[in-house]
Amino acid sequence: MAKVAIVTGGTRGIGEGICLALKEQGRTVVANYAGNDDKARAFTDRTGIPAYRWDVGDHAATMEGCKRIEAEIGPIDIVVNNAGVTRDGVLHKMSWEDWDDVIRINLGGCFNMAKATFPGMRDRGWGRVVNIGSVNGQAGQYGQVNYAAAKSGIHGFTKALAQEGAKFGVTVNAIAPGYIDTDMVAAVPQPVLDKIIARIPIGRLGHASEIARGVSFFTADDATFVTGSTMSINGGQHMY
Ligand code: NDP
Repeated sequence: MAKVAIVTGGTRGIGEGICLALKEQGRTVVANYAGNDDKARAFTDRTGIPAYRWDVGDHAATMEGCKRIEAEIGPIDIVVNNAGVTRDGVLHKMSWEDWDDVIRINLGGCFNMAKATFPGMRDRGWGRVVNIGSVNGQAGQYGQVNYAAAKSGIHGFTKALAQEGAKFGVTVNAIAPGYIDTDMVAAVPQPVLDKIIARIPIGRLGHASEIARGVSFFTADDATFVTGSTMSINGGQHMY
C-alpha cells in the first residue's frame, strides 16, 4: 500500500510543489494549511489532494489533525514540515508577538508534528521527516532575528531528532532553500529583491519544483543512509 505523506503548508508555494513531487513518487499525499480556504479548495480541485486546516503552531490542534488523518487515510510515514511565516522588522521595531508567532509556527510546528507522528514511525520501523529551513537560518539576515532564529533552530532540531530516529529506520533531514518565487517572496519590496537576486550566483529566484526535487531525494525508499543532513538549494547563495 502507498505510504501516507503529509506536507504542512502544502496548499500553495513550495508546499504545493512538494505535494506534487510526492504524488509523483507514488505516495498518498495530504496537505495541511492555516486558514486560506479559497486557496486550499482551488489546490484540491487542481491536484486531487485533500487539505486539512489547522495551525501547526497549536500543539493540541496538531495532535488532533494528525489523529484525524490517520483515522481517515492511514498511518503517517512521511512528514514534510514546510509551513512557515515571516514577520520581518529590525529588532527595535519587532514586537514580542512578531517574535513569538514566527518561533511558534516555524519551529514549534516541527516539534508538534514530530510529537504527533514520530512515535508511530519509530514503532513501525520506517519513516521520513524533511524540515524546510532556510539559507537565512544558516547565514542570518538583516531584519529577520525571529525568522533566522526559528530556521536555525530547525537545522539543530533536525540533527537532534535524526539521532533519535537512526536506529529505528526513521531518517530526518532538512533543506535550506534560498529565495524561491512564491507569495512569501512577492511580499519583499522590489528594490530589496533586486539586491538579493544580484547576490545569487545562478542569478534568479528558484522554483518550488526545485525544492521538491530535494524532498523527493530525502523521502525515497532507498534514501536509507542519509540522515541529519541539510541540503542547500539556493542557486549557490550559501557560498557567499
Ligand atoms: P507561502 O507563504 O507561499 O505559503 C505558506 C503555506 O504555509 C500556506 O499553505 C499557508 O497556509 C501555510 N501556513 C502558514 N502558517 C501556517 C500555520 N500556522 N499552520 C499551518 N499552515 C500554515 O510560503 P512559501 O511556499 O514561500 O514557503 C514555504 C516554506 O519554505 C516556509 O517554511 C518558508 O519559511 C520556507 N522558505 C521559503 C523561501 C522562499 O523564498 N519562498 C526561502 C527559504 C525558506 P494558508 O494558505 O492557509 O495561509
